[in-house]
Amino acid sequence: MESETQGAAMQCRAGCGACCIEISISSPIPGMPSGKPAGVRCVHLSVSRLCGLFGAPDRPGVCKALRPSIEMCGFERAEAIRYLRWLEAETSPGPSVSAYP
Ligand code: SF4
Repeated sequence: MESETQGAAMQCRAGCGACCIEISISSPIPGMPSGKPAGVRCVHLSVSRLCGLFGAPDRPGVCKALRPSIEMCGFERAEAIRYLRWLEAETSPGPSVSAYP
């Protein structure tokens, strides 16, 4: 996901797309009417891992609202993937998994 605003806030890491794969999205996405499960690549994520709906009115609200942060994105893509997988496990129904390592 890419930030749609400019400013001092952290910007998305070019070519990352970790959140467009690792997290589940329960709201409809064009072409994915039931949203997407965790670990499934969004159909709008390009081969260069950019959002094909960036700036489009039908881009899901959750995608527009999600902002990059050091906590979520870390300093490299592998850190983002590790954190997002942990977050998905922690927020899915069932017992708590563990503290983030
Ligand atoms: S619509 Fe765009 S920002 Fe949202 S998950 Fe798909 S590729 Fe990512």
